[in-house]
Amino acid sequence: MDSCIFCKIASGEIATSFVYEDDLTVAFKDLQPQAPIHVLLIPRRHIASLNEANDPQLQGHLLLAARRAAEKIGLKQYRLVINTGPDAGQSVFHLHLHILGGRQMNWPPG
Ligand code: 5GP
Ligand code: ZN
Repeated sequence: MDSCIFCKIASGEIATSFVYEDDLTVAFKDLQPQAPIHVLLIPRRHIASLNEANDPQLQGHLLLAARRAAEKIGLKQYRLVINTGPDAGQSVFHLHLHILGGRQMNWPPG
């Protein structure tokens, strides 16, 4: 999708260093990290949010890729977050998993 910032990152139009990538996903550091390690994992193809996702294989792959990305960046303990919709805190409408780690996480989240 032309106007989508994460599509531009995935395609290389915005040069970004990937901490992990495979045929279906890429992962890169969040611009405004909320933890010592804060990486975003996205599908290469545009899906606006989890509510628009309808591909069980890709959705399963995202979890596997999240674990592989965490492993690659040396995180053994981490939190995965998928904000879905503005009330949940979603601000970029290209499906993404936050991979957060490197500090004690609190519950409940804000
Ligand atoms: P959301 O609020 O949609 O769950 O998460 C969007 C995340 O994308 C935010 O944590 C924000 O800091 C990050 N972000 C927004 N624009 C960019 C960008 O251009 N590059 C990177 N690396 N992260 C971004
Ligand atoms: Zn997109």
